[in-house]
Amino acid sequence: MVVLKFGGTSVAEVEGIRRVAGIVAAEPRPRVVVVSALAGVTDALLTLASAGATIPGNPPPRALDALLRRHIAAAAMIRDRAARASLEHELYAIAGHVAATLESAPGRLSPRSRDDIAAAGELWSSRLLATVLRDRGVPAVWLDARHVMHTNSHHGNAAPNLDATRDAATRLVKPHLDRGEVVVLGGFIGSDPGGATTTLGRGGSDCSAAVLGACLDAEEIQIWTDVDGVLTADPRVVPHARVVPHLSYGEAHDLASAGAKVLHPGTIGPAVDRAIPVAVRNSHRPTAPGTVVSARRPAADAPLVAGLACRAGAVLFEVVAHERADVDEFVARVFGELELARVEAVLADLCGNRLVFTVHASERLDGLRRSLSKSAEVRVTEGLATVTVVGDGLITDPHLAADAARALRDVRVHLVAPPDGKRTLAFLVDGAQAALATSRLHDYFFGAARRRAAAQRPMVQA
Ligand code: ADP
Ligand code: ASP
Ligand code: MG
Repeated sequence: MVVLKFGGTSVAEVEGIRRVAGIVAAEPRPRVVVVSALAGVTDALLTLASAGATIPGNPPPRALDALLRRHIAAAAMIRDRAARASLEHELYAIAGHVAATLESAPGRLSPRSRDDIAAAGELWSSRLLATVLRDRGVPAVWLDARHVMHTNSHHGNAAPNLDATRDAATRLVKPHLDRGEVVVLGGFIGSDPGGATTTLGRGGSDCSAAVLGACLDAEEIQIWTDVDGVLTADPRVVPHARVVPHLSYGEAHDLASAGAKVLHPGTIGPAVDRAIPVAVRNSHRPTAPGTVVSARRPAADAPLVAGLACRAGAVLFEVVAHERADVDEFVARVFGELELARVEAVLADLCGNRLVFTVHASERLDGLRRSLSKSAEVRVTEGLATVTVVGDGLITDPHLAADAARALRDVRVHLVAPPDGKRTLAFLVDGAQAALATSRLHDYFFGAARRRAAAQRPMVQA
C-alpha cells in the first residue's frame, strides 16, 4: 500500500482539489490519503482562537462564516445532490463545534481548546475530499483521524504514539484497504489518551502521513506539494534553486530541521525505522519525477552538498562567567537553566569563560535572561537567522566549511557551527541578511564555478 499526502497548497482551490482527485484515482495500489486543511485555513482558525472567546448568543465571528462558505462553495463541485447535502450538513456541524468552543471558555482559550478549533481545517478538507473522490467513482471512505492517530497530551505540538497508532490503524484502516477501499483522513490532528483533540505542530500533516505509512508498512510515502520536489534552497529565496533528485534520510531530516518547510522534521524518523522511501512530488505537475528520500543515494548523482535551509527568529545569548568562576560549573549551570526554562540551544560555542548559544525566539526567553543574569553577564541579540548547508559530503570533506565561509565575505556572520562530523554547517547572520547569505552560499555550491571545482575532486559515497 502507499500513503499519499496532499498539503494545503495542493487543495487551495477547486481546481487543486480536482487535480488531487485525479492523482488518487490514477494510483492503482491500495492507498491511504492524508490531506491538510485548505491553504490558509489553519492560520485563520488560529487567529480566531487568539482573538479569544465570543459572547454566548452572539452570531459566530464573520471569519468563521467565511471559512465555512469557502468549503460549501468547493462542495458545489459534487454532482450527486444527496451526497452534497450530507457533506454540507457535516461542514456546518464542524463550524458549529468551532463556534461552541469559542463560546465555551471565558477570556483566553486553553491550548486544548485551540487544538479543538485548529482541527476543524483538516476535518473540513478530509470530509470534502472523501466525498469528491466518491463522486468520481473512487470507493473512498472517510475516517476521523483522531480515532487513528494517538498522541501524547502536548497540545499544539503533540508527539505521535506509534504503538497505539499502529493498533488503531490495523483495526480501523486495514480492513477498508483489504476491501479495496481508499481511506481518507485529515493530517495534523490526533487525540491524547483522554480522548482530547491534539495537533502535531504546524506543517504536521507530513508527519501524520509518515506515521501512518510506518504503521501500515507502506511501500512508499508520497508528499504531494506545490513545488517539483525538495530543491537546493527555498525557491522563494533562490528562484533558480534546482530539484534534488535523491536525498539520504539524514539529509532530508537535517534540511527539514534547519527550516526547509517542504517537509516537517517529524516525517523522516518513522520512514527510516521501516526503510520506507519518501517521495516529494508536485501535485500541479504530477509527471515531474520529484525527489526520492531513502537510505542510500546512488553515488553517481551524489553532490557533496544536498541543499540549504534558512530559519528566521534566532536569538543569540552571550553569557560571560564572573572571573573566578569554575568553567565546568558555569557551563553546567547555564545548560541547567536552559533545561529549566524548556529552551533548546541550537548552536553553542565555548571560548574561555564566554559561552555563546542560539535559541529560537519565544516568550520564555525573558525569564531565561533574568535567571542567567543572577550569576553572569548576559548579552542578548535578537532578529537573527540561521542559514544551514546540508550534505553527507560535509561529513568527510574538510574543505567545504572553509570554502563556504569565504563565500560569505560581505555578510555579517555572528557564529559558525562547523560540521564536526555532522552533515550540517550553520551560519548565524542578521535576519535582514539571511536571503543574501542563502543566495551567496547557493551560488557558491551550485553555481558554475563550484561545478568546475567539484569535477576535480573525487565524489563522496552517500
Ligand atoms: P504544503 O501545503 O504542500 O504542505 P508547504 O508550504 O508546507 O506546502 O511546503 C512547500 C513550500 O516549501 C514550497 O512552496 C516552498 O516555498 C517551501 N520550501 C522551503 N524550502 C524548500 C526546499 N528546500 N525545497 C522545496 N520547497 C521549499
Ligand atoms: N494545516 C496544518 C498547518 O497549516 C498542517 C499542515 O499543513 O501540514 O500547519
Ligand atoms: Mg507543509
